[in-house]
Amino acid sequence: MQTFQEMALPESLNHTLIDMGFNNPTPVQQEAIPSALQGRDILGSAQTGTGKTGAFGIPLVNHLLTNTEGAALVMTPTRELATQVMSQLQKMLGKKSKIKVALLIGGEPMPKQFRQLRNSPRLIVGTPGRINDHLKRRSLQLNTTDFLVLDETDRMLDIGFTVQIENVMAHLSPERQTLLFSATLPKNITRIAGKYLNEPVRVAVGAPSSPVEKIKQTCLRLKEADKHSTLLTQLDECEGTILIFVKTKFGTEKLAKKLRQEEHFADAIHGDLRQHKRDRVIAKFRNKTFRILVATDVAARGLDIPHIEYVINYDLPQCPEDYIHRIGRTGRAGALGNALNFITPADNKKWQAIDRLLNPNNKQKESFKPKKPKNKKWGFKKKFKTPSSSNSHKKKTFKTKAKA
Ligand code: AMP
Repeated sequence: MQTFQEMALPESLNHTLIDMGFNNPTPVQQEAIPSALQGRDILGSAQTGTGKTGAFGIPLVNHLLTNTEGAALVMTPTRELATQVMSQLQKMLGKKSKIKVALLIGGEPMPKQFRQLRNSPRLIVGTPGRINDHLKRRSLQLNTTDFLVLDETDRMLDIGFTVQIENVMAHLSPERQTLLFSATLPKNITRIAGKYLNEPVRVAVGAPSSPVEKIKQTCLRLKEADKHSTLLTQLDECEGTILIFVKTKFGTEKLAKKLRQEEHFADAIHGDLRQHKRDRVIAKFRNKTFRILVATDVAARGLDIPHIEYVINYDLPQCPEDYIHRIGRTGRAGALGNALNFITPADNKKWQAIDRLLNPNNKQKESFKPKKPKNKKWGFKKKFKTPSSSNSHKKKTFKTKAKA
């Protein structure tokens, strides 16, 4: 189906989709929504940034609006993704909706979640750890939950949530509809799908393991000791919002601090930060209070900030699949994006593994062969100015000054 009108959605949902700027369904939505509206289970793999949240969110909201009973549960691997998914679903429900919701994520005070749960929410979004906590405390019952979404399932399994997911499954009504989405579909996912999905419709948009085509990927071959100076050169050349991935939590803080000392607007995010601090950093990055976010893989999945124009893999990821998720933070919703990969001699094996994932049929694709660094732009558009280059622009674009 090419349009939302053909899908015969409830009138209020049609309106909220228009308010959100969703005029026509994206390819994954065209494939998934009609089957999901018929009550079918879905096993979906789609490139990141393709409108996956709408692909499960629209049928979910339709289910809540067209049934007076029953409830929906969405499980995501990270708190950030859960918050983002909840925000999108609430937009679809609309401001006037009376449907109660509960966001069950770790790092947040329990009393607020107890309060939300006492209100009989019909939409619950959360991370498996906290959802299990509530199940154990009996503050959450799932026996009437008849619509389940597992989002970024590969990531949930990677970070060790298999037991928690299976425990949640045991609490759910067997008479339910299940939509499972995953960026990649390794064997452990197909096992879970075989166990919990009922004759699912397979939805695959694009090659399951390939990144969005509009992301320009560039590799720089360099020595570990030259990474920082090369980064500074690249940052001076570019003028857009940048997400830099590094290996360790300590490394994010260290690099962000160094960049601030060098007059860049930068901050760091990693799993050791308290939830409210993580939320604050993401909110400030989202509204362009600062320009460079240095992150561990905590930010690799799901983060939807449309203005991220560049992803720099300062350190390559440990696991090749994470490369796809990392670079998927740019090039959102059809926009152009850039990814720059720093590759040291010690990274050769890691890069080969990534290259095999990206090009399973090629031995090594020419365009991804690492190049020697050149003091040359890698396709940045002029948009942001660095703090030192224009004070008037600085005031306009960045609301607060970088911390020393
Ligand atoms: P997602 O893959 O769900 O993270 O979505 C990526 C981006 O696409 C988000 O910014 C969504 O708001 C946007 N998006 C999703 N579906 C549509 C649509 N049908 N029309 C326009 N934008 C969309």
